[in-house]
Amino acid sequence: MIIRHEPLVRLVADIFAAAGCQAAEAGRIATMLAGANLAGHDSHGIIRVPRYVEALQGDRVKAAQTLTTIVDGGAFALVDGNYGFGQTVGPLAVALGIERARRHGVAVIGLRHAGHLGRIGDYPETAAAAGQVSIHLVNVAGSELVAPFGGVDRRFSTAPVAIGLPVPGEEPIILDFATSLVAEGKALVAHSGGKALPAGALIEPDGTLSSDPRTLYGEVPPGAVPDPRKGAGALRTFGEHKGSGLALMCELLAGAFTGSGCSGPGPRPLANGMLSIYMAVDHFHSDDGFARELRQYVDYVKGSRPATSGGEVLVPGEPERRTRAKRLAEGIPLSDQAWKDILATARRVGLSEDRLRAVAN
Ligand code: NAD
Repeated sequence: MIIRHEPLVRLVADIFAAAGCQAAEAGRIATMLAGANLAGHDSHGIIRVPRYVEALQGDRVKAAQTLTTIVDGGAFALVDGNYGFGQTVGPLAVALGIERARRHGVAVIGLRHAGHLGRIGDYPETAAAAGQVSIHLVNVAGSELVAPFGGVDRRFSTAPVAIGLPVPGEEPIILDFATSLVAEGKALVAHSGGKALPAGALIEPDGTLSSDPRTLYGEVPPGAVPDPRKGAGALRTFGEHKGSGLALMCELLAGAFTGSGCSGPGPRPLANGMLSIYMAVDHFHSDDGFARELRQYVDYVKGSRPATSGGEVLVPGEPERRTRAKRLAEGIPLSDQAWKDILATARRVGLSEDRLRAVAN
C-alpha cells in the first residue's frame, strides 16, 4: 500500500503518545522514522514501530530522557543518553557538538547508552545545515549480528558510519551506511515481504552464503516481532576485510572509547554508542576556496562516463534526496505486513478503530 507522509507521521506520533511519550518526543520519533522512509531507508523507518513500542513497554528504552555529562572538556565531551529514545538523546548530542564546534572550530562528542539512533544520516544533515563537516562512527552494544571477515560467528553490530559535508548554496554530501553488507533492518524489510536481500548478504554457520532472512531470524511465529537473536547465521560485512576492519573500528571507538560498550561478548542492554567529530567550515576557511574546489571536483566525479547506457554517477546523499522528493509527492510504499504490524501495535496501545480507519482512508 501507499500512504501519504503527513497522516503516517500523525499516526506514528499518536502511537508513541498512547504508549507513554510526551507529545514533543512522540512527534520527533514519528518525524524521524517517517523521514527514514522518505529518504528510501525503509529499514530504519516506521517498520521499527512495533520494536520501539515493545522496548518502551519492556523498559529497555526510556521516555523523556536528557543527556548526563560525564566529561566536559570544552571542545570535547562525553555524554550519557541514559537509554533514552535515540530520537531525543541523538539530536541533543548533535546540538551540543554543533554548538561546541561553533565556539572552538572543532568538537568531539562521545555519546553512550542511546536508544536506537535510527538513520544516522539525519545527524550529518543537521550539522551540514549548520555549516559543519561531521563524521559519526556508531555501534550497537548488545547486538551481535555480523560475522567478521574470515569468520562465521557473530561478533560485530551493523556499526554504521556517516560523513557529511556542507556545500554552500547547494545540497550537502551525505555518506551514510552500515558496515554490514545490508543494514539489519533491510533483512527485516525482506522478511516482511519488502525488497529481497542481495545474494551473499548473510552467512550460515557452516559458511554457506545466503540471502534468506531466516538465516538471521529463524522461523518467526505468525504475529511475532522478528528477533535477530533467534537465527543461527549472521550478516556479512561489506567490502571483505576492509568493511570488517571499519566495523571493528566502529565497535572500538563508538563502543569501547565512549564507554557505551561493544556489541559483545555476553548479553548487554541494547544501546547505540556514537563518536562524532564536528568541524565548523568558517573556522578553517575565510574565503570560499574549499567550496569552489569541492563543487568543481564533485562535478568532475559526476562527469565520469556512465558504466551502463542510461546510467549516471551519483554522489552520496543524492539517492536519498530524489527518493524524498518522489515520496513526498506520491506517498510512501509499505509492505502489507509492515502496515499490519503498525496497525496491531496501534490497537495494542489503545488507538480507536475510527482513528485507524481515518488513516487508512
Ligand atoms: P545503503 O547500502 O543503502 O547505502 C547508503 C549510502 O550509499 C548513502 O550515503 C547513499 O547516498 C549512498 N548511495 C546509494 N546509492 C548510491 C549510488 N548509486 N551512487 C552513490 N552513492 C550511493 O545503506 P545501508 O548500509 O543499508 O544503511 C541504511 C541505513 O541504516 C543508514 O541510514 C544507516 O545509518 C542505518 N543504520 C543505522 C544503525 C543504527 O544502529 N542506528 C545501524 C545500521 C544502519
